[in-house]
Amino acid sequence: MRTRVGITLFLIILGILGSAVLSFADCPNCFWNVKRISGHGTTADGRTKLNVQISFSGSGSWNNPGTTTTNANIWNGVNSANADWNSQTTTGTSSGQHGNYSLDVNQAAPRADVDVRIVLGSLTPPTIAQTRGVTDSSGNVGPPFTIILVPGAQNWTPNYLRSVIAHEIGHALGLAHSPGFNTRPNR
Ligand SMILES: [Zn+2]
Repeated sequence: MRTRVGITLFLIILGILGSAVLSFADCPNCFWNVKRISGHGTTADGRTKLNVQISFSGSGSWNNPGTTTTNANIWNGVNSANADWNSQTTTGTSSGQHGNYSLDVNQAAPRADVDVRIVLGSLTPPTIAQTRGVTDSSGNVGPPFTIILVPGAQNWTPNYLRSVIAHEIGHALGLAHSPGFNTRPNR
């Protein structure tokens, strides 16, 4: 989904986030072939609802150790990143046309209905975050997407965490890096 709208949104996000954070985020294949996510229902203004879930049990959980409570910084970072995307418009004004998706942190959704999962996982340094999708027989990438954040992400500053998650969500929404993005090939 490399639409003009999508690219515009991505450039807005890039402008918000700056480049320092983004150079460490990783996106295999750069997702030039991401499918439109069918999602789960639509909003009143016609946007496709996506279920975003922070892993809360088993391997990859962002729970506080020994509890069923999600780490507060991770929780806030994901919610803030979702809000950033949901508030973006094609014109940058409050009256502008929204993007195609509406993201919701839905911790109750059955696993099969989760479009984007946020998990704790190990990555090869200096990579600190990575988005992975499911590749079909045609080579196109689709949901469920998994956004991996490395151990220690819960200690990042709120804005840094928020910006990294927003960047990675952008990949799940089908956005590759803009030209001139300072990173290695195949990221
Ligand atoms: Zn990236």
